[in-house]
This record gives sequence, C-alpha cells and structure tokens, in this order.
Amino acid sequence: MNQPSLEQRIAPLIKPAIKLEVIDNEQAEAASCESKIGGQPYAEQGDSWPVCPDCNNELSFVCQLKHPQQQELIVFYYCNECGPWGLAGESEGQWVSKLYPSPSMEKLSLIQRQSEDEQGFIPCLVNASTVNTLPDWEGLDLVDETMTKHCCELDDDAPWEAYDAAVERSGALNDYATLIGGYPRFVQGAVLPHCPQCQQDMEFFAQIDSEEQADMMWGDLGVIYLFRCAVHRDVFKMRLQCH
Ligand SMILES: [Zn+2]
Ligand SMILES: [Zn+2]
Repeated sequence: MNQPSLEQRIAPLIKPAIKLEVIDNEQAEAASCESKIGGQPYAEQGDSWPVCPDCNNELSFVCQLKHPQQQELIVFYYCNECGPWGLAGESEGQWVSKLYPSPSMEKLSLIQRQSEDEQGFIPCLVNASTVNTLPDWEGLDLVDETMTKHCCELDDDAPWEAYDAAVERSGALNDYATLIGGYPRFVQGAVLPHCPQCQQDMEFFAQIDSEEQADMMWGDLGVIYLFRCAVHRDVFKMRLQCH
C-alpha cells in the first residue's frame, strides 16, 4: 500500500478561520457592533476610555473583532507609548481587551478620549471571508509532533520546505493576515500562554497583522496575537512578535 502523501496527512489538521481584509473607509469612524479598525470603539454604559497605568496616556483603540457566526465582540486597546510585548513583568493595563457578549446599537454608549490620539490608526472597515489555515512550521509541534518527525524523514536538511510545499498544495492560507480563529502564523516562534486563573494552555483567538491601510505597524512588520482561555472566556493574553 502506498504511504499517504504529506498533503493527505495534514488535511485533518485544517481549521477554518475568518480572514479580515482591511479597507480604508470613512464609515469606519462611526461606532458599530461589527469588526473594524480605529475610529470610535464600541462601548457600553459604565465604560470609560482605558488609560495606561505606566505612562498615564489614554490607550489607542486598535480594533474590534467579531466572528460573523458569533454574537460577541472583543474590543482591543493598546498603549503605543509603552509598546507592550505581552511579556511577564509588564504592568497589566498597557493593553486591554474587553469582551461584550451581546453587543447591540441599543446598548451602545460612546466613550470619548480627553486627548487627541497622535498615534491612532486610520479607521478601516473589514471584509470578512472564510479561509482554511494550517499550523505554520514553528507551531506544528504544538499541534502534532508526529508530523514534524515525518517531515524530518522526508527532508532532514530542510524539513520545513516539505511542510510548506504541502501547505501550499492544500490551498490553505500561507501568508500573514489579520485573522479570527484558525492557527496563528508566528513571526518569531510558537508561543502558547497559560491562563493566569486556571494555568491551562490558552486557545489562539486572533492575530492582528501590520496593516498599511490603517497606518498600523507593529514594530517591523510584526503581528499581535491574542489568546483566550477556553474556560474563562473573558481572560485574554496578548503577544507581539516582529522581525
Ligand atoms: Zn503606556
Ligand atoms: Zn482559565
């Protein structure tokens, strides 16, 4: 019997993700319950604009993320002044991700900054589409160790080349993008933070790519990764990686 090809072997690992294509559009300035970058963030009664505990500047509103098949909305803020990496030792509050389980225009309550955001982003709408994703080479071991071994048997010198070629043939996304769900594509090696409450491995939730249209650059073409606890659904961790 023929050995299954690498492409066949990785097929069961495929996970769908929502790819957000960023479109510079003035309509994004207004608050909404949908995914978007910059402009006015979604907020509800009792919210105020988050302030960085270290530099005391107001955080920049980065984006709000909504999976098209889910109701909840996650609103993400970041201190461009302090530029946190999401590492241990950084003060809590240099970035904030707020979960709204059932956002609606009726519950919407606008919050205002006191100061001009000089490092703010260009408001952008997003076009959401479903794509297939596979782990990148760096993250493959976290998902299936046997697969990295198998790739090493195929090409001991450059096993990642065999893997990348199989990912390409599978039609899965093989580039950086802003995504909700699926697998992260790491810039600097795989990470998977633990939930500070239950110590369990978190789930990958989303990645926010450097987006030129939004004037959004994370270091040198970096990516922000958001992870979420499977049990504590309002607990997120952030990591920034760049070249
Ligand atoms: Zn700060
Ligand atoms: Zn937890």
